[in-house]
Amino acid sequence: MKATIIGAGIGGLCTGIALKRLGYEAQVYEAVRDIRPVGAAISVWSNGIKCLNYLGLAQDVAALGGQMDAMAYRDGLTGETMTDFSLLPLMERVGQRPYPVSRAELQAMLMEKFGKEDVHLGMCLTHLEETDEGVIAHFEDGSTAEGDILVGADGARSIVRDYVRGVPTERLYSGYVNWNGLVEIDETLAPADAWTTWVGEGKRVSLMPIAGNRFYFFFDVPLPPGLPNDRAAYKSDLREHFSGWASPVQDLIARLDPDTTNRVEIFDVEPFPSWVRGRVALLGDSAHNTSPDLGQGGCLAMEDAVVLGHCMAAHRDLGPQKLLQRYSDLRAPRGGELVLRARKRGAVTHGLDPAAMEAWYAELRQETGENIINGIASNIEGGPFG
Ligand code: FAD
Repeated sequence: MKATIIGAGIGGLCTGIALKRLGYEAQVYEAVRDIRPVGAAISVWSNGIKCLNYLGLAQDVAALGGQMDAMAYRDGLTGETMTDFSLLPLMERVGQRPYPVSRAELQAMLMEKFGKEDVHLGMCLTHLEETDEGVIAHFEDGSTAEGDILVGADGARSIVRDYVRGVPTERLYSGYVNWNGLVEIDETLAPADAWTTWVGEGKRVSLMPIAGNRFYFFFDVPLPPGLPNDRAAYKSDLREHFSGWASPVQDLIARLDPDTTNRVEIFDVEPFPSWVRGRVALLGDSAHNTSPDLGQGGCLAMEDAVVLGHCMAAHRDLGPQKLLQRYSDLRAPRGGELVLRARKRGAVTHGLDPAAMEAWYAELRQETGENIINGIASNIEGGPFG
């Protein structure tokens, strides 16, 4: 069976690797000529790492990952520690260390493993058609590609999704803007082995270690959508949004490089029940576009890839349509649940519900780690490897 995969992001490349490992032919078609991931880094939680391990990437991803042994919340304004605890009980419970990694390095690793020769860059899908024998993908340059199945791993603004659902999909604004990038680790900002987050006023600032002595940083600020995205104003905007905040936050703003910082408005998509139409399946953000409030969007894409591969190998006799439906039946409830969980978490974190936000700040001051670890573990444990 031959698979046409649209999109060379985390979802498309993991799918390509999973299918090739099982002996299927897979070709990836990517719209852009030069892949530049939106976002500096990503926390790959234990469920995602287990998928990468299964795909034969255990050592590669461990080499890219930061050692995140502890977690702390600090009061954004005073800098005072609200809670500080070890993440080792989480790792023992779920049986795998999570790794925050550089996105560009993750992308390069996946591309290398899949095989660059099978990634066709500058190929923008315009439409597709199904025949009795397969699916034909049509590209902007007039060329076509034919496969037995087509996987739409074409991200949050997926056009394959329009085909599968038969209607355009609205993306819903999550109420906040995120700035993210990388800075060199300096322990005057935060400990090198911890995920440290400052919270207050519905805003947050976070630092996570990745390999190469770097911190992944991000800032979240509740703002209306559609404000100008002016790189030259990133620092002054952040200074204004975080005026009066603790000194490590001010130092971080001073150190960041606006040229390598990303600014993104955060959206999600209301979950929908089926990710399949005929021989065409959705995977990754095209199927479950979640806000990053649980750090699970990319991990879910890795899970999708593993489960799709499993369905193809275990149900060869069913034929393409039925095995894709099987994949969708297995994955859509989990994807939908995490989109809604992330939305709920984001509403509390970003003060969309101010009373819930204040209650959460009060809880953090009482937190010993157990509740937070239970929450993170519950996101991880629904994956294909438990
Ligand atoms: P994408 O990475 O968007 O890839 C889709 C690809 O398809 C793109 O390369 C695009 O160019 C291509 N494409 C689009 N249209 C076409 C077309 N018509 N023809 C051909 N190609 C096309 N997830 C985590 O697990 N942990 C985190 O810590 C985390 N943090 C995040 C922080 C932020 C600020 C954001 C915004 C997201 C975060 N996520 C995180 C989510 C994660 O980034 C996504 O879930 C993940 O990148 C989705 O991968 P994908 O392959 O489905 O889509």
